[in-house]
Amino acid sequence: MVADKRKLLDFLQSCDISDEASRKIENFICENYDQKEKPKRKPLFSVGEDDDSEEYVSPIKETCETGTQCKRDVEYPEIESGNRSLDEISREWKECKDVTPGEAVRLLRRGQAKSRELESRFPAEQAIPIRRTFINKKFENLPYLGYDYTLATECCCENVIGYTPVPVGVAGPLTLNGTSEIYVPMATTEGALIASTNRGMNVIRAAGGVETSIFNSGMTRAPVVKFPTARDAVSMKRWLEHPENQDRARQEFQSCSRFAKLKSIDITIDGNLAYLRFDAHTGDAMGMNMISKSCDSTMRFLMENFPEMTVLALSGNLCVDKKAAAKNWTEGRGRSVVAECLIPREVVTKTLRTTPEQLAYLTTTKLHIGSSRAGAVGGSNAHAANIVAAIFIATGQDAAQVVSSSMCSTRMEVTADKNLYVSCTLPCVEVGTVGGGTILAPQRACLESLGCAGPNKEQPGQNAERLAEVIAATVLAGELSLMAALTTNELVSSHMKLNRSKQQLYADDSGKATHFEKEVEKAGSLLSGKSGNIKLKRLPQDVVQCSNIL
Ligand code: NAP
Repeated sequence: MVADKRKLLDFLQSCDISDEASRKIENFICENYDQKEKPKRKPLFSVGEDDDSEEYVSPIKETCETGTQCKRDVEYPEIESGNRSLDEISREWKECKDVTPGEAVRLLRRGQAKSRELESRFPAEQAIPIRRTFINKKFENLPYLGYDYTLATECCCENVIGYTPVPVGVAGPLTLNGTSEIYVPMATTEGALIASTNRGMNVIRAAGGVETSIFNSGMTRAPVVKFPTARDAVSMKRWLEHPENQDRARQEFQSCSRFAKLKSIDITIDGNLAYLRFDAHTGDAMGMNMISKSCDSTMRFLMENFPEMTVLALSGNLCVDKKAAAKNWTEGRGRSVVAECLIPREVVTKTLRTTPEQLAYLTTTKLHIGSSRAGAVGGSNAHAANIVAAIFIATGQDAAQVVSSSMCSTRMEVTADKNLYVSCTLPCVEVGTVGGGTILAPQRACLESLGCAGPNKEQPGQNAERLAEVIAATVLAGELSLMAALTTNELVSSHMKLNRSKQQLYADDSGKATHFEKEVEKAGSLLSGKSGNIKLKRLPQDVVQCSNIL
């Protein structure tokens, strides 16, 4: 083994081998170097012998000298015994006094401390290995170092054990409403998605750009309440429909936020139940927390006027949040946006290698008849969810809201002069540029690149609307490209090229070395001057070949 690890890693960088092979070799180098050169580490955790006997292995990750994270866990086989009794440690914990990581593990295992308390007693990068040790899972290759947990653990995630890096690609430039410098960040593991969206954007650019318009805005929340009789429920409905009472309810609703502006309260009666669907502007916030808080306050106000009314739940599912629903499809939720583009015939034929007629015919047969026969709600599109999900993840939106946000009607028609008219209408784009995951630095960086990060101080709501418009325009690009690929039967070939890993991680039937193994062996012999010194662990033969391997 060559002693200079730095030189080895530099040399590895210059080798023409796949990322996967490079990663394995880097780990191999780190492992051997660390064993030979590094002084023995002191164990991080000290777990007392009076504990439940198993040995605890702390799955700590280290930072390599290259600055990149080692991809394997460094084990701490030594477990030091603690001197203090459990009672003593437990007392100290309750009084928020000094408790070591090892002692914390003991308390967690005895049920005398709670996993969720860890971040209040330790820095996040120490709390995480304690939690991993407590649940006795190593989570090899799930990184946790080098991440700012300050905001994440405060309001985005509980019981944190690390973070999953998702590759973020970019599609663009997108010519949108006369501006041509928009590059859209998309977080995805579906190879071919960004390449395909990019192709659609090329078409849009050649056609002179896509236009978008917001035609509705409002977030909804619908508490469910119960009365002794249906007649009582109806009289509450009538009372609340009176303009004076509605004004009083509005004042109550709006007192909870500077940005919540109540548009309407729509009441649905079902026997002695009433569902009050509040619809409100929420500025640049997606708005679910904001209007939930406002609804809560308004329901208290209503209870003062209707003491016999019981609030069963602040959400009665008529909102409708995170469930596919015709109500959202027809009435809209969040931002309702339409994108349209007129594409000259020669652009369709040259860039997409198809014709307006073929695209229009496939729109009818697939998007309209096919989706209708499937009983899809908001599903008359080719793959709007792909684009919506990728932008949602990149920009810190609530990913579960892809359910409604990707409802989309895609239309493609041949115009009188034989060109192609395309539109994508998305009535429920539930997005925000403040709050939720948008506060995290990487997600915020993606919003900044789109020119819509944080609040719009001059015109609250404009930043969130811009994000909705970018999403709709990008959906249109994606629809164009996929529909064209389907008319020319290029879908499978592009996915085989861009979406299936070339690296087989197991041996083929003949037992011969795979492409991946050969690459690793080639790189290994380059480094050592000998061949075959790197042994890969083969996965069982019956492992099914998988795509999207990261
Ligand atoms: P939020 O962060 O809870 O509220 C937005 C905050 O930003 C408010 O404090 C608001 O001020 C402030 N703000 C400053 N400038 C603003 C501007 N220009 N426009 C709007 N607000 C501005 O965000 P949210 O969108 O209401 O809630 C999003 C979170 O809710 C996400 O994490 C999501 O996952 C989660 N969620 C919650 C529910 C639920 O039922 N509660 C359901 C689904 C999702 P004010 O204090 O004056 O309002």
